[in-house]
Amino acid sequence: MDKVQETVLEIDLKALKHNFEYLKSKLTDGTKFLAVVKAFAYGSDAAQVAKYLQELNIDYFAVAYTYEGVALRDAGITTPILVLHPQPVSFDTIIKRCLEPSLYSQYVLDGFIACAETHKQHNYPVHLKFNTGLNRLGFSAEDIPNVIKTVSKTKTIKVRSLFSHLAESEELATPDFTLKQIEQFNSIYKQVYKLLDYKPFLHLCNTSGIINYPEAHFDMVRSGIGLYGFGNDQSVNKYLKPIASLKTSISQIHYLKKGDSLGYNRGFIAQKDTKTATLPIGHADGIKRQYGNGHGFVIINNQKAYILGNVCMDMIMVDVTNIDCKEGDQAIIFDAKHTAEHLAENVNSISYELLTAVSQRIKRVLYR
Ligand SMILES: *Cc1c(COP(=O)(O)O)cnc(C)c1O
Repeated sequence: MDKVQETVLEIDLKALKHNFEYLKSKLTDGTKFLAVVKAFAYGSDAAQVAKYLQELNIDYFAVAYTYEGVALRDAGITTPILVLHPQPVSFDTIIKRCLEPSLYSQYVLDGFIACAETHKQHNYPVHLKFNTGLNRLGFSAEDIPNVIKTVSKTKTIKVRSLFSHLAESEELATPDFTLKQIEQFNSIYKQVYKLLDYKPFLHLCNTSGIINYPEAHFDMVRSGIGLYGFGNDQSVNKYLKPIASLKTSISQIHYLKKGDSLGYNRGFIAQKDTKTATLPIGHADGIKRQYGNGHGFVIINNQKAYILGNVCMDMIMVDVTNIDCKEGDQAIIFDAKHTAEHLAENVNSISYELLTAVSQRIKRVLYR
């Protein structure tokens, strides 16, 4: 790629394809693949990423909220879209835009059936979410008789799948909790299958589950972070390629004398003569304030340039005292080599948080 002249998020679709194929190679034939494209496809570009995955014959998409699914439909996505966390106020929109809700409580189940009735629906596809230990969303095993009674009474909806979500599938050293969740899910689907006169398909694993628990792939897997190039473990990361690179260019160089201050609240005071570079990216772009005062860095001419003082809304200033650089030179915040995961670790964060924080005002450049 050419050197950037402004702040840009480059998205490598070849890397996306590579990750998709790598993860798919872990599945047995016939297991469906759902791509999680919530939060702008983990901060990249949901519409473009989804279009590309649709070309690669992905089976399903998932988003968190209804409006994210609407944006994909507006972009021309025709693949089924599961809305993981819909609120009843959006049920009308779900039906109008042919999105498939996750129903996770009696309240949302009743609400959705009522809404589907007013739209005169027949066998509208829905997904039942069960809680197996994350304790975030989902029916419990005790709810099964009532849920199935409700579902069996109506022709308005049809349960397309049963699913649950793992709490710590990346912690392979301590598998006990995950194994209990898998056991619990097995028991849940068997009870549902006994009570229902058809068999919804099953899914449980996220990216780390795909890698670590092949016995729990069931009929479909749901991958987010893996598609974007991270496996939550060094041993997995080496097979994946981060798809997003966040780059910018130096706006101005300043030379501070010993005792000069830098930035808001005079967050940095030069202890010696210091050369600084000002970059057009700030906390409104996803570089949180925690990265300030030496906790975060960018890469300029292959060297680490630490952030000095406080992160501003639209700018950071970095220490380039020992780096040969000039105005207009490129700075890398993260890329395939200097990864988002590595940078995030410096502030006790994770790749997911840094990637999804990249603001929408930053230009996306896709290449394949
Ligand atoms: C976000 C999410 C996923 C994706 O998890 P990754 O670790 O990114 O693969 C899968 N399932 C559910 C229910 C989610 O909320």
